[in-house]
Amino acid sequence: MQMSKMFFQTLREDPADAEVISHKLLTRAGYIRKLTGGIYTYMPLMWRVLKKIEIIVREEMDNSGAQELLMPILQTEELWQESGRWDVYGKELMRLKDRHGRQLALGPTHEEIITALVRDEIRSYRQLPVNLYQIQNKFRDEIRPRFGLLRGREFIMKDAYSFDIDEEGLDKSYEIMAKAYTNIFKRCGLETKMVRSDSGAIGGNVSHEFMVLTQTDSGENDVLYCDTCEYAANSNHAESRMPDARINGKYEKSHKIETPNTKTIEQLCKFLNIPPSIICKTLVYIADSKPILALIRGDKEVEETKLKNAIGANEIRIATSEEIAELMSKSGFSAEAGFIGPKGIKADKIIADKSVVSLKNFVIGINETDYHLVGANWSQDVDLPEICEDIRLSVAGEICPNCHGKLLITKGIEVGNIFKLGTKYSEKMKATFTDENGREIPFIMGCYGIGVSRTAAAAVERYHDEFGIKLPKEIGPFHVIVVPVNTNDELQFNTAKEIYEELRSQNFEVVIDDRNERAGVKFKDADLIGFPIRITVGKTVNEGLVEFKLRDSGEMLKLTKKEAISKVKNILQD
Ligand code: ATP
Ligand code: MG
Repeated sequence: MQMSKMFFQTLREDPADAEVISHKLLTRAGYIRKLTGGIYTYMPLMWRVLKKIEIIVREEMDNSGAQELLMPILQTEELWQESGRWDVYGKELMRLKDRHGRQLALGPTHEEIITALVRDEIRSYRQLPVNLYQIQNKFRDEIRPRFGLLRGREFIMKDAYSFDIDEEGLDKSYEIMAKAYTNIFKRCGLETKMVRSDSGAIGGNVSHEFMVLTQTDSGENDVLYCDTCEYAANSNHAESRMPDARINGKYEKSHKIETPNTKTIEQLCKFLNIPPSIICKTLVYIADSKPILALIRGDKEVEETKLKNAIGANEIRIATSEEIAELMSKSGFSAEAGFIGPKGIKADKIIADKSVVSLKNFVIGINETDYHLVGANWSQDVDLPEICEDIRLSVAGEICPNCHGKLLITKGIEVGNIFKLGTKYSEKMKATFTDENGREIPFIMGCYGIGVSRTAAAAVERYHDEFGIKLPKEIGPFHVIVVPVNTNDELQFNTAKEIYEELRSQNFEVVIDDRNERAGVKFKDADLIGFPIRITVGKTVNEGLVEFKLRDSGEMLKLTKKEAISKVKNILQD
């Protein structure tokens, strides 16, 4: 490839809306161009990267025994009605109508389509197991499309779906995918951690995410991991034990106490001179438009995904002050937020976090403004709610649920995930097969996604420096750039051309920067785009030497033309 003909342009400035480094660098280096929020053109440089990732994904998926197909992007409402997701998927689903007024959607994922397909094609257990995958553009009208390719509205995904005759088969399919994913990310040059994750309101199902660990803010997920054992989990799912699980408050007798202007835990602690850990905090949430109460120890936070799953809701959010006032008046109280307690409240559900169970002589709201109950105990003063689950946000420093190690926290980018779906779709969509005994039973399914475009962006998050992108050779757009310092110098230009032609004939992915630009400009662009190897042909060519530079380490050598070519081979072919 000649740089003078390449369709790209580097930019000096970061795009105004770019928050994360991969978005900035991919735009500045000419890899991507934005059409509108969350929708990008993959320029030739980017497309080379994406194709390389796709090849790795394909090879590993094929090796695992999965078969590739390609389903329609346009999906019909009927199938989504069958699965029950047309109404619950919400605004993320991009819906449209055809000329006959029929509702369609742009596929955000393909469980419905594949389940309907397999339902029609597979009749007997003899045809199972099967794992089908595709690589395709997906559409999600994300609330906050941001971070460039990390969270787009149109993006490339590999999605796979396994069908098994029983749970044991699913376990095997799941294992095989976990292995394939590990290989895929490793081959992309990315170290990933497989972490336990939330799998939505359908409790009990197993799922894992593959996280690229980053220390930067681009990692949208918090990952908690143990310093001693292999435990790792997304914070929306992480469990932990508290070092100070049993807490005994200082008040030995229960009594009502005046606590003026103590709307927050902090104010209350200050006023009573107590630690937050002896307070039982009462929070009002709206779960699927109904008010619920959540109780948790005063020094702990509620993890909303855990709360949502614990009560089996689709949507959850903290209540507004109007909604709190409405709940209070419905229950016959007029207390302000900050003084609420569970006793006498007509909430749809009351759920307690496990952290409050062992509290003794604690402080709690009694629905009277400017008053609290101190020295309270369960049963005697307040009933412990019937629903008692872990809805607490685990934090660093707490104890691993599996061993005695300490939990640490880091940021992660989810590049892939694997789910055991079980019969969630097959039952609803009546997708069955005949088993060995002639019974009709639903398929046991799994689904497995990889964000192909997100993986590319995550790799840039992982591999860059102040000068630009440093993608590993496995997925970078090109291997080598040959730079004649002065294109008007015949010897320099011809030598560069010879090196370029020689490498090209050996099938290396090589670019010659034949532009009539200053050397400084060429070097800057080369660093920004990120060629693993740069061969510069300058004045020393008169002594038969060229400059050989590695982008990653910055190591620089003076070599003869021949040596430079054989070093390229050594580096790229190992
Ligand atoms: P997230 O929690 O990040 O929204 P998800 O749980 O919605 O992800 P899946 O529906 O399982 O993700 O999709 C499979 C993979 O597709 C994810 O692991 C991720 O790598 C990628 N992906 C999901 N949403 C996006 C997006 N908006 N832009 C780019 N990639 C995405
Ligand atoms: Mg999502």
